[in-house]
Amino acid sequence: MAGPAFHDRDGKIWFDGELVDWRAANVHILTHAMHYASSVFEGERAYNGEIFKLREHTERLFESGRMLGFEIPYSTDEVDAASVAALEANGLAEAYVRPVAWRGSEMMGVNAQGTEIHLAVAAWEWPNIFTEEQRLKGVTLSWAPWKRPSPDTIPACSKAAGLYMICTLSKHDAEAKGFNDALMLDWRGYVAEATGANVFFVKGDAIHTPIPDAILDGITRRTVIGLAEERGFKVYERRITPDELEAFDECFLTGTAAEVSPVARIENVEFPSREAASVLMPAYTKLVRRES
Ligand code: PMP
Repeated sequence: MAGPAFHDRDGKIWFDGELVDWRAANVHILTHAMHYASSVFEGERAYNGEIFKLREHTERLFESGRMLGFEIPYSTDEVDAASVAALEANGLAEAYVRPVAWRGSEMMGVNAQGTEIHLAVAAWEWPNIFTEEQRLKGVTLSWAPWKRPSPDTIPACSKAAGLYMICTLSKHDAEAKGFNDALMLDWRGYVAEATGANVFFVKGDAIHTPIPDAILDGITRRTVIGLAEERGFKVYERRITPDELEAFDECFLTGTAAEVSPVARIENVEFPSREAASVLMPAYTKLVRRES
């Protein structure tokens, strides 16, 4: 990855209520979140200086915290303002914004009742999780070696740090095999999501996407479903099995970082069509940039 390491940059980070120097935004090694994954986060994107669907992201952050048994000690207005402050303090107009909430170091051990809840927000320039070339050609996906866990084994729909352990492992596995990303199944064997994006399949004017019962209910996913319906596509949220893939003409991913990214193939199943993506990519850009 180009650019300096993330701990060694100029700028400001919003940290527990104030803007601090980027390099001073540190936590102690005996922070509960470091050992027990008691951390939740968001990924937001600013276009022309405005964070797209900021309130929805903030609300999801609070929900993720509640799923991990903690309440973020700020109001939603304050957390919205923290994201804006992190953006503006760094003079950014086009940026990725990362709020994170975590349990502190007051207690060490599985019991975390006495930990304080902290919140920080950082913002930086970040183009897309896929390169321009990958998006033009369509990204390639392998099958992930890990499955999305069932909602009775973990808070499966939270945006919690712990759930990304299998995403990182799956992404590394994909790259080692020469693919751009991995597509995960859920614990039942249904198609779930990529390591940082939701997945859609297209056949004619019908678009199919998994029910968000064991995956992150992406804010981009919801947005793109709306855009597709407004443009005459029928959107079916349903259970999709891997053996159905050959019947689809087109596949794409959605996410704050991925935006709308066409998929060229999943393992050896190819998706040559760009019919829906060629409509939805510009529609999404127009919406996030408030050009419509
Ligand atoms: N699934 C996972 C696992 C993700 O990390 C993301 C990115 N936040 C998404 C889906 C897409 O969510 P959103 O559209 O809200 O960014």
